[in-house]
Amino acid sequence: MEKRNLETICIHGGWKPKKGEPQQLPIYQSTTFKYDTSEQMARLFDLEDSGYFYSRLANPTNDAVAKKIAALEGGVGAVLTSSGQAANFYAVFNICEAGDHFITANTIYGGTFNLFGVTMKKLGIDCTFIDPEWDDAQIEAAFRPNTKCFFGETISNPGANVFDIERFARIAHKHGVPLIVDNTFATPINCRPFEWGCDIVTHSTTKYMDGHATQVGGCVVDSGNFDWAAQGDKFKGLTTPDESYHGLTYTKTFGNMAYCTKLVTQLMRDLGSIPAPQNSFLLNLGLETLHLRMKQHCSNAQKVAEWLEKDSHVAWVNYSGLPSNKYYALGQKYLPNGSCGVIAFGLKGSREEAIKFMDNLDFISIVTHVADARTCVLHPASHTHRQLSEQQLHDAGIAPDLIRLSVGIENSDDIIADLQQAMDKM
Ligand code: PLP
Repeated sequence: MEKRNLETICIHGGWKPKKGEPQQLPIYQSTTFKYDTSEQMARLFDLEDSGYFYSRLANPTNDAVAKKIAALEGGVGAVLTSSGQAANFYAVFNICEAGDHFITANTIYGGTFNLFGVTMKKLGIDCTFIDPEWDDAQIEAAFRPNTKCFFGETISNPGANVFDIERFARIAHKHGVPLIVDNTFATPINCRPFEWGCDIVTHSTTKYMDGHATQVGGCVVDSGNFDWAAQGDKFKGLTTPDESYHGLTYTKTFGNMAYCTKLVTQLMRDLGSIPAPQNSFLLNLGLETLHLRMKQHCSNAQKVAEWLEKDSHVAWVNYSGLPSNKYYALGQKYLPNGSCGVIAFGLKGSREEAIKFMDNLDFISIVTHVADARTCVLHPASHTHRQLSEQQLHDAGIAPDLIRLSVGIENSDDIIADLQQAMDKM
């Protein structure tokens, strides 16, 4: 396809209607797809032909949206999942099995922290949490012979720290493993991790990509750049015959689509987690305006962060768009057009002050959700991370007073006025 700019891909990517076909992406609300002969169907099951046969593996609505996201990220292929959690699980589980190990930044989203540190451990996959602030030698010491990948978030949730993608890609590649980056907060509008050496991108499409809190979803995108065959002993699942497909070898048969094909044909086949086509349709509507919304989120958040920094109630602000910020230089490198709408900040005083402030807000709502058209707020220590001890909060880089403010696309003066009145009542 002709190379298009991101704004055009947001609108046209993935679905190109032919003569007389619907202009808008149709919802293929069908579990199954018809064939004329038994032989045709058999060839699909043997992966000798491509085509739809059962929506647990693939569905045309889902695939159109996946293609759009792959194009936005500059990847060779993408797979939609029913949640961001499923996307992160599949991204790692596609190349890790019992007895393997991987490494992740400790600043990641609490749900992913639990998935990696608790649930995947039960499957026999061990995870080491590193502090991205450590020097290279400390980080490299975490690698083991059975390490299979390195994971981080472009902009961490909830801390809003910026991940040094190029640095971690270099370290991962030095040890023969891919870098997986969760690009949920930046979105491809503001950062394309593949351009910095990342190999696989994941998304919780529940967030900015949808943007209107209408569906829970996820996506895994492959750059197609990681040479699995060159590390054949490490990634046997991709480079040696798969008995469940009559001895087919993914890297030999599918080339740079090996990773995505394995994810669909093994993990989707055996575990499910596909999104409903209806949800993918809603996600696609969100994607059509992603480029416009991200601009407004960033412009509003910049104004709000500058205002917070000056307010006397505020103890600290973390937003990479602030020149005073620790992540400003990384932000300028990876996110030159703006990062996202999420700001982390703390108020002077106790945890109770944070709760009081949030309860005083008017249209800014207290919700678990984040990265949405509506401005919303959350106190991770009391909400999403309340199961963590003070030590675990500290290890995950979450200050007990941290408030996560997700700046929406309303009028910035109104957002600031709501924050101001809530501060004034304290
Ligand atoms: N990754 C990040 C960065 C997130 O913020 C979230 C959820 O907040 C997830 C993954 C999990 O996504 P979901 O809630 O869609 O399962």
